[in-house]
Amino acid sequence: MEIMVAKHAGFCFGVKRAIDIAEEVASKNRGKTYVYGQLVHNERVIEDLEKKGIEFVDKIEEIPENAVTVLRAHGEPGATYQQLKEKNINKNDKLNDATCPLVTLVHNVAIKLKNNGYEVILFGKKDHPEAVGTSYHIKGNGTLVIESPDNANELVYYIKKNDFKKVAIISQTTMSVNGYKELIENINNLSDKKFEELHLSLRNMSKPYVFVDTICNPTKQRQLGTEEIAKKADIMIVIGGKNSSNSKELAAKSRSYGVKTHFIQEAKQLEEEWLKGKEKIGVSAGASTPDITIKEVVERIKEIASLEEKGKPLNTGILG
Ligand code: SF4
Repeated sequence: MEIMVAKHAGFCFGVKRAIDIAEEVASKNRGKTYVYGQLVHNERVIEDLEKKGIEFVDKIEEIPENAVTVLRAHGEPGATYQQLKEKNINKNDKLNDATCPLVTLVHNVAIKLKNNGYEVILFGKKDHPEAVGTSYHIKGNGTLVIESPDNANELVYYIKKNDFKKVAIISQTTMSVNGYKELIENINNLSDKKFEELHLSLRNMSKPYVFVDTICNPTKQRQLGTEEIAKKADIMIVIGGKNSSNSKELAAKSRSYGVKTHFIQEAKQLEEEWLKGKEKIGVSAGASTPDITIKEVVERIKEIASLEEKGKPLNTGILG
């Protein structure tokens, strides 16, 4: 049996940075440190941080006045900063912003497009905190968010109904690269308004119908790494938090290659039955999965394999 671990599996730099910020702030703070929302979509990481004196809250009302606060990597709407300000929690003082710089980049792209007359539409997951934050910078609750390439007709109808003269589509950083391509293809097939790519630098904003590739590079690398092994594997194990958008995308990518794929959160969910008779086991993990969880899954696969294939050689390696 061969175990193939996808290149770039696990933490992306934005998630790692957010955890480092939270840990550093908590270690210097004598009182409680508050984090608004799930810092990363991984229960194990959250539990670990709770042990270090960090309290996670889902509502700003739960944060006391003057409390040392950390904002998660996904990016927040402006209203969050305003509400915290009213509690005397300000930047450069009590507020520590762990928003990933690549999410901030998307916010800036959205604002620039909007200021140049574009109706900005987001390809993303409606309830995902990043989509909520980015939508705020476009036009708040009124932003059209398209969740799947299959909903291209919704977008085409929206443009036609409102007779927009300039439209720009951007993407949540963690969406599927192929899904985004498919969405644009579907729109262009359905509409006489053809969308063309506008480079992320936004140098030339004269074209009326554009899309900008705002999926972050760490997401692309993880999708590519998963793709590489999914093509060869007999079975794929994708590890990630239940709410992790990028992890779910990796599982979907793997399935798109026709390989049986199991999406798990931890090693103990692995079932011996899944590995029976399988020669090549692929393992991938979303950007919010810690290395230790990946290691435990690999160890568990080895354990199951040794029970089943006594005497046979086992290859374990990182591909790429
Ligand atoms: S997935 Fe991309 S945008 Fe999101 S935190 Fe990681 S690096 Fe940043």
